Amino acid sequence: MPADPACPVCKTVINENSARATTGQTMHGANEVDPNAGTRSFFNGEWYYFCTLQCRTKFLTAPNTYIEN
Ligand SMILES: [Zn+2]
Repeated sequence: MPADPACPVCKTVINENSARATTGQTMHGANEVDPNAGTRSFFNGEWYYFCTLQCRTKFLTAPNTYIEN
């Protein structure tokens, strides 16, 4: 099993299952998730996991600050 991903902004380890767990469905049938349990974003060919929406916003503002190459 791969290790749980870590938030690239604050290095908090995120439980992938809770980040992807759905809290229900929208009226259009899309899955709804609880952003407080973690969120993710597809960027530069990879999924990045974030502990909070705040961290995601920080990352997307300046992704090169957080990506380790
Ligand atoms: Zn974070």
